[in-house]
Amino acid sequence: MDVVSTPAEMSAWTAARRASGDTMGFVPTMGALHAGHLSLIASSRAAHSATAVSIFVNPTQFDHADDFAHYPRTLERDLDACARAGVDAVFIPDAGAMYPEGSTTTIDPGPIGSILEGAHRPGHFAGVATIVVKLLNIVDPDAAHFGAKDYQQVAVIRRVATDLDIPSRIVAHPTVRESDGLAMSSRNVRLAPADRTAATVIHRALTASARAHRADPGDLAAARRAALGVLGAEARADVDYLAFMAPDLSRESRDGDPDTVALVAARFGDVRLIDNLALSEWNGD
Ligand code: AMP
Repeated sequence: MDVVSTPAEMSAWTAARRASGDTMGFVPTMGALHAGHLSLIASSRAAHSATAVSIFVNPTQFDHADDFAHYPRTLERDLDACARAGVDAVFIPDAGAMYPEGSTTTIDPGPIGSILEGAHRPGHFAGVATIVVKLLNIVDPDAAHFGAKDYQQVAVIRRVATDLDIPSRIVAHPTVRESDGLAMSSRNVRLAPADRTAATVIHRALTASARAHRADPGDLAAARRAALGVLGAEARADVDYLAFMAPDLSRESRDGDPDTVALVAARFGDVRLIDNLALSEWNGD
């Protein structure tokens, strides 16, 4: 496995692999790798003959300095996990390499970046859009692989890639969960034990709304009540939003829409978690 730290080396790596006939998959991450990241790596490896992973805790997408400072950093373990997962190259730039002195350009994804997460985390999606475009320009993969756990992030990146004529395909993969339903996240390790237990409420609320939606797809208010009932019973959860949206996030879902995605953000102590569920794709009890 090659480990490269400058954009020039990374671009040269891709060019060399492409010249020898490889197709390139790319998995951008902020490290603290878990089974969710590894599933993206496995998907990329199944689809391409070469896979690159980036590990970069991007300062510009954090709206709180505290969250950035406390974000878990486990580089040695991550490199080990990448090697064992069969990754071909890991790109680990430092902030100075990605944002050299004098750089001022940012990408504003427009309205899709200012709702939901964007409303609660001002500037977050400009930070995400800018770093992802930079990474795609540097790595130049045939496809970049993302997790549906960060549902709005995928929607924003698709929008930006389309609008800016970025040739890489943007591919989304299902959320990997702990056995109790909690979506895997690098932030889960920061949960206090009681909050880790309480955090299962997010998935329980989402499945409760899916169950209600299955019973009557024409009554979104009932799906909302079902989710709120579950969330309201957990005192440790501080809910930022519960939203029922059209799959492309262009508008709120309406009664009887064939497809609705439910999205939740909630805080447990100082750890903020997000999750979502496509209601009609839910195949639980
Ligand atoms: P992060 O390191 O949190 O920025 O995430 C890097 C990539 O992994 C993003 O595309 C995330 O959506 C994806 N990811 C994070 N958690 C999960 C999960 N539980 N299941 C699948 N993909 C995930």
